[in-house]
Amino acid sequence: MEIIERLKELLPNGIVSRVEFEGSKIIIYTKNIEFFKSSEESIKNIVSTLKKRIEIRVEKDLLLKEDEAKRKILELAPSDAEVKDIVFEKERSIVNIYAKKIGYVIGKGGEVVKKIREETFWQPKIERAPLIDSKIVDGIRKMMHEEVDFRKEFLNRIGKRIHEKREIDRKRIRLTFLGGAREVGRSSMLVETPKSKILVDAGVIAGSQNGYPILDIPEFNINEIDAIVVSHAHLDHVGFIPVIYEMGYDGPLYLTQPTLDLSTLLWLDFIDVMQRSPIKPLFTIKGVKEAVKRAVTLDYNEVTDISPDVRLTFYNAGHILGSAIVHLHIGDGWHNIVYALDQKFGRTNLLDPAFTNFQRVETLIIESTYGAKTDVMPSRKEVEEQFMQVVNKTMERGGIVLIPSFSVERAQEVMTILVKNNFLYPIYLDGMIWDANGIFTAYPEYYGKTMMKEAMSGKDPFLSPIFKRISSSSEREKAWNDRPCIIISTSGMLTGGPVLEHLKHLAEDEKSTLIFVGYQAEGTLGRKIQKGWREIPIEENGKTIPLKINMEVYTADGLSAHSDRRQLLAYVGNLASKPKRIFVVHGEEEKAISLANAIEKIFKIESYPPRLLETLRIA
Ligand SMILES: [Zn+2]
Repeated sequence: MEIIERLKELLPNGIVSRVEFEGSKIIIYTKNIEFFKSSEESIKNIVSTLKKRIEIRVEKDLLLKEDEAKRKILELAPSDAEVKDIVFEKERSIVNIYAKKIGYVIGKGGEVVKKIREETFWQPKIERAPLIDSKIVDGIRKMMHEEVDFRKEFLNRIGKRIHEKREIDRKRIRLTFLGGAREVGRSSMLVETPKSKILVDAGVIAGSQNGYPILDIPEFNINEIDAIVVSHAHLDHVGFIPVIYEMGYDGPLYLTQPTLDLSTLLWLDFIDVMQRSPIKPLFTIKGVKEAVKRAVTLDYNEVTDISPDVRLTFYNAGHILGSAIVHLHIGDGWHNIVYALDQKFGRTNLLDPAFTNFQRVETLIIESTYGAKTDVMPSRKEVEEQFMQVVNKTMERGGIVLIPSFSVERAQEVMTILVKNNFLYPIYLDGMIWDANGIFTAYPEYYGKTMMKEAMSGKDPFLSPIFKRISSSSEREKAWNDRPCIIISTSGMLTGGPVLEHLKHLAEDEKSTLIFVGYQAEGTLGRKIQKGWREIPIEENGKTIPLKINMEVYTADGLSAHSDRRQLLAYVGNLASKPKRIFVVHGEEEKAISLANAIEKIFKIESYPPRLLETLRIA
């Protein structure tokens, strides 16, 4: 391969024993320990010449023995680091070090990690152990280690595909919207470049019979897809991914590490929901495993080749933990696509506003969930003050606040509001919220700056002792007797889950309050109560009985993780580079049209809400 030949020419003779790929990264194995120790400068130079990520590692038979290396690592890393686990991957000459405080394992200017490398010859990979135990985080890490042989072969194969010479040359770039066009749900977009095909997102409309992307078109051939790129862990963006793997797709899945963990949590939860529904499940655990095995995680701002002519970078989207704006750089400086959904261009307690500082954007794809003229939310400050007032009043009269919520994001946003306001009463968490918190505490680097600073100084809000976990029905009863208190429980729209147990118990209690913090879809029990129903049909022991709602009902509007209309327009206006055209998706038809018109009028940029299955040539 050309790239390997060029690389060998740039290195001193006899240094390279073999070269392998790990995705787009090139790994040079050597038997020359002296070169390994002193190679930093020369590798840096080669990286800037070749514009490739390159790493040098020592061949496995020269590595320090595992037990000795382990002793050495524990000796070099200060005890403050709280090293939880050390896992060796001999085939790749890597040692994974999991610590609660990774800063100590890295050391000032990276001096500790450098010493570990120089004294053990292993390549250290340092990862944060979650501060709250998370079965998901542990499970994924364990699987990656168990599948080390598969991963090695897989990443090498992916790397070869990325660096191969491809004869095919379509001389154009086209986008096809396979879902999520003039609608919300099943977001999916196919990108065809001269040499490759990339799928961005593949979501579902949960609970809908045919609510998934339309792949039955000539442009979509599973064997031609080079990569699937995922923006964030919501089912309307990732719900269909395991199905594509079950269909036989064998390529990589690019996402951030929190998105992988949170998506896995959602997929497992979704399997559970599907199994209890009369409709045939879309996928099984097999599809989830196939996807996780082929995941390639990237940090924000990390530039990676994903095919012979596409370079991918993720940027903060401000939407949920790990959510990313997808930047695709096509050809050498030919065309830049920015896929900016879902996003929030405003500060929340958890996250910073979405990234706008792009050097070049030719095509922007933006959401319109709240794209109508009337979609203007009250200020965050107002929303939070009113929310706290309702909570405090309920506490004063000895009631319980029940907050139905999805396990990811809104629950954590509500928790940070409560911690910030020095809330003193117990807050019970039911459903998978506790697990999701564990994932959050593993990735404080993905928090907004303010919260990250606090978390790094040991004040992660999710570690507050006011949070208590409910994991059995007896603990549920305990919570009911612990007045006043707050219970946050799944599901978010009262469509199932433990929240219904709480509702049955609390509905008739006038002292208690039901607070909606998220969107309630038409037809759900949540929507009915929100609309004013005060007697609702509810299942008990297989029979439907009426349940009286005497508790106070309050909706906290404006806690949304999406940009409202003003924020969407501000996002376009704040982009460092003015796009040539904008596609408006992920919104009901009128909203998408209304936002596209507004953008065209204000910014004089060609804007269009594509239709489902419409293919558009952009270059
Ligand atoms: Zn979303």
